[in-house]
Amino acid sequence: MVTLLNSVDAPTRRPRHPEKAHLPDTPLVRKPDWIRVKAPGAHAFDGTRETIRRHGLHTVCEEAACPNIGECWSKRHATVMIMGDICTRACAFCNVATGKPARLDPDEPKRTADAIAELGLNHVVVTSVDRDDLADGGATHFAQTITAIRAAAPQTTIEVLTPDFKRKQGALEIVLDAHPDVFNHNVETAPSLYRRIRPGADFAHSVSILKEAKRLDPAVFTKSGIMVGLGETDDEVANVMDALRAADVDFMTIGQYLQPTRKHAAVDRFVTPEGFAAYKRTGEEKGFLLVASSPLTRSSYHAAEDFERLKAARLASLRS
Ligand code: SF4
Repeated sequence: MVTLLNSVDAPTRRPRHPEKAHLPDTPLVRKPDWIRVKAPGAHAFDGTRETIRRHGLHTVCEEAACPNIGECWSKRHATVMIMGDICTRACAFCNVATGKPARLDPDEPKRTADAIAELGLNHVVVTSVDRDDLADGGATHFAQTITAIRAAAPQTTIEVLTPDFKRKQGALEIVLDAHPDVFNHNVETAPSLYRRIRPGADFAHSVSILKEAKRLDPAVFTKSGIMVGLGETDDEVANVMDALRAADVDFMTIGQYLQPTRKHAAVDRFVTPEGFAAYKRTGEEKGFLLVASSPLTRSSYHAAEDFERLKAARLASLRS
């Protein structure tokens, strides 16, 4: 795992998480043997990084210190994070820098599209920081990015992983009107942990966004995910599944929470690979078209392969 123990952005010396500076350090727990990351294949990895840098983009792969970056970037799969690299929330699990974000860059949708065309991706995931400071929460910027990708890379299917838009009127409609192939919004954890882990959000509201997305565009695939190891119980994981199925969510991801720095929430437990396999079985029994559940599962991990599985599963369910 790429763990950023240094909580200061090197070029600017700006603290990444000023709101956490006063918190006591929590111990970093040694990871179990089953959490092994793949080493990057140097040439393709460097090529992905060069493309991202040249187009002046940010990725959640780097900003969230994702453990899969070696594997994904070696396959030229990067998840672009639009609307800057400063988030207006301050979740206890997230390594993305927090603070006052810069103004939106109107050229970013085109640069994102150009980079994706250059990477030659079949499927791309575009996410963002939370932009509670914007009137539409950044929905128009998402829509512009989708439109630009369709123009520059018409063969690429598009998955958006969005914030909750803080109840901004009409924001969801703006994104869905641009017709992403997959609409993903993560509930992240069980509702009992929201106050500690995701204090700026509301579980029921996040679920309602997913339900509304499917109502607005019945053809879109909806997707959501959680991390385990933050203090939830297995019963709570099952309850989250029920809530997502009640919102007609198609695809659920479940992965192990890994603590990015000593100022973030401590890991409560490491779920074994067998435990993740059990979650997958439970989710499938509850009716998801697809469940990705493993220690290193992340929202965008193997997203292209999973999108193919998702389409096949929908087709099979329509035929049965
Ligand atoms: S799993 Fe997603 S965020 Fe992590 S490296 Fe891969 S594409 Fe990036």
